[in-house]
Amino acid sequence: MKIITDIKGMKSFSSKMREEGKSIGFVPTMGALHEGHVSLIRKARDGNECVIISIFVNPAQFDRKDDFLSYPVDRANDHELALKNGVDIVFEPEVDDMYPDGFETYIDQKRLPNRLCGLNRPGHFRGVSTVVTKLFNIVKPHKAYFGEKDLQQSAIIRRLVKDLNMDVEIVVLPTVRSAEGAACSSRNRLLSAEERLDALSLYDALNNAQSLIKSGVRDSREIIGSVIKIINSKKNVKKIDYVSIVNQDTLEDSLTINGQEIIAMAVWIGNTRLIDNCRLTNND
Ligand code: AMP
Repeated sequence: MKIITDIKGMKSFSSKMREEGKSIGFVPTMGALHEGHVSLIRKARDGNECVIISIFVNPAQFDRKDDFLSYPVDRANDHELALKNGVDIVFEPEVDDMYPDGFETYIDQKRLPNRLCGLNRPGHFRGVSTVVTKLFNIVKPHKAYFGEKDLQQSAIIRRLVKDLNMDVEIVVLPTVRSAEGAACSSRNRLLSAEERLDALSLYDALNNAQSLIKSGVRDSREIIGSVIKIINSKKNVKKIDYVSIVNQDTLEDSLTINGQEIIAMAVWIGNTRLIDNCRLTNND
């Protein structure tokens, strides 16, 4: 495994792989790797001759400076996990190289970023779309792997690749959870032991939504009301940014359950904002 920090070096490595006819699988991350990231890396390892991951805490996607500065960093563990799971290249560019003086080009979309997380995190998805586009241009992957946990992000990236005619296949993989059900997240490291327990309410709430649907409830407002009650019953829940039931492709609110919906939420546990979602199955 090799660590590459300069953009020029990364581009020439990827060009060489492509010239040799080798397929490149790419997993973009912000580091503090966990089992969720590992599942993407393993899938990339299975389907490609060369596996590249990036570790870059992208300032352009943080709407709050304190959030950027407190984002967990654990490079030693990242390198160990990457090595153990067969990564060939870890690309770790510097902020000043990705965004040099004079940088002024951003990728934005009209509709998708203005839903769900975008309502509380202005500019977040513009930052995500911009960095992913830059990383695709540098790493030149054949396939790129993303997690369903970041539902809106994967919808935006799929749209971006389609709209800009990019030659990258986007693979989206299921959310990996702890034995208790918490979605693995780098931000879980920021939770106290008590907050960790309260964070399980997100999973409980998702299960509650599923049970209501199984029992015949089809009204989204009723399901959302019940979910909010469960989450708000926990002491360390500071704020619910949103609980929404949306169409899986458009991310527009769905008033009734037809089998094409996802329930998504963003909740502050203490000072940590967590997101989670799941597909709502309607087996009528
Ligand atoms: P991040 O480092 O948080 O930017 O995440 C990098 C990639 O890992 C994104 O595509 C995420 O959707 C994905 N990811 C994060 N958490 C999970 C999880 N629990 N299960 C599966 N994929 C995940």
